[in-house]
Amino acid sequence: MTKASDATTPPLGGTDDLLQVFQLGSGPARDAVRGRIVRLGPALDQAIGGHGYPAPIAGLLGEALTLAVLLGGMLKYEGVFTLQLKGSGAVRLLVADMTSAGAVRGYAQFDGALLDAAMAASDAAAGDPDGTRPSGKRVAALMRESVPRLLGQGYLAFTVDQGVHAQRYQGIVDLRGPTLTECVHHYFAQSEQMRARLKIAVGAVQGPGGVSGWRAGGIMIQRMPDADPNAAARGSTAAVAVGPSEDDAAWTHARALMESATDAELLDPGLASDRLLWRLFHAEEVHAHPPQPVRAQCRCSRERVRLVLLSLSPDSRDELAEDGILAVTCEFCGARYPFSTAELAAQPDAPPDAPPDPPPDARGAP
Ligand SMILES: [Zn+2]
Repeated sequence: MTKASDATTPPLGGTDDLLQVFQLGSGPARDAVRGRIVRLGPALDQAIGGHGYPAPIAGLLGEALTLAVLLGGMLKYEGVFTLQLKGSGAVRLLVADMTSAGAVRGYAQFDGALLDAAMAASDAAAGDPDGTRPSGKRVAALMRESVPRLLGQGYLAFTVDQGVHAQRYQGIVDLRGPTLTECVHHYFAQSEQMRARLKIAVGAVQGPGGVSGWRAGGIMIQRMPDADPNAAARGSTAAVAVGPSEDDAAWTHARALMESATDAELLDPGLASDRLLWRLFHAEEVHAHPPQPVRAQCRCSRERVRLVLLSLSPDSRDELAEDGILAVTCEFCGARYPFSTAELAAQPDAPPDAPPDPPPDARGAP
C-alpha cells in the first residue's frame, strides 16, 4: 500500500477509535473512489454503555453512531453532523451525532414492552418461539431486520450544521429496507449528487481478559463525480453534478471489494485499518490518509441548560419544577443540572442571541 503525499503524520497508536480517509485507483482513475474507514472500540462502548440499554437498542445505537462517523465526512468545516431516527415501533427516537473534532454521543427512547414483543416475533420467525438460542444470535437476528422490527414507520434524517461557515443542510428519507445502513443506501440512490455505499458491523465482542465491550467497524466508499470517465469522454473538464453510469468499472470493482469485508474483519481488534484496507483493496492502489481519533464526549453544560431554561416563561418554568427545583437531565450523557426557580427568576432574561435549542424534554439538554 502506498501513502498519500500528505500522509506524513505518523499513525496513532493502537487500532481503535480511529477514522481514516482513503483513495482508490491509480493513473487516470486516481481518486475516482474515495472512502472512509472507522474502527470503534472503547469510544463506542462508552457512548453506548453508560445508558444501560438492552442489547438490541445498544446495537441499533451503535450502528447509528458508526453511520454518523462515516457520514460526518459531509462536514467540510467545524461543525456537527446529526443523525436522527423517528419510528412508530419499540424505538420512537434515536439521535447520534459527531463533531468535526471527532466527539460522538447518542441516545435512544424506546418502549420496553414493544421491544420484548419485537424480540418474540423475531424468535418465532427464526423457528425458536421459546428464545432458546444463545442471546448473541437472537440479538443479531433482530438487528438484521432492525428497521421493520424495532422502528416500523418513520424516517431517518441527518443535519450538517457548520455554524456561520455554511448553510445548514438537511437530508431525509423514509425508513425502508431491513437496516439503517440500507435506509442510507436508499437515500443515496434517490440523490443525484452522490453515489456511495457503506458496510458496517456492530457487536458485543469479548476482549482480552474476557470482558465484553461494544465494537464497530465500517467502511464507506464514494464515487467522486468529477472523476467520472463519461464526463471526460464528453470532453467536459468541469465537475459534473450527476453520478457516473452503472457500467463504471472502477466503481463496480470498488463496491465488490468492499462488500467482501466480513463482520469478523470489521470487528477484529487485532486487525489495524491499514492492514484491513490492504487486504480488501490491494487489487487497486490504496492511498490512506493519517487516522483521526474518535472519542465519546458530550457537549452539554450547565450554562447552556441555564440559557434554555431562561428562554422559557416564568410560568412554564414553574410548571416544570418540582418543589421549586427544575432539574434537567442530559439524555446523551446522563448529567443532571438542577436549578431553583428562584435562582432563575432572579436572573436577567436570556440574551436575544441565545442558542435556538429545542426544549430540554424534546432532545435532552443541549
Ligand atoms: Zn450531556
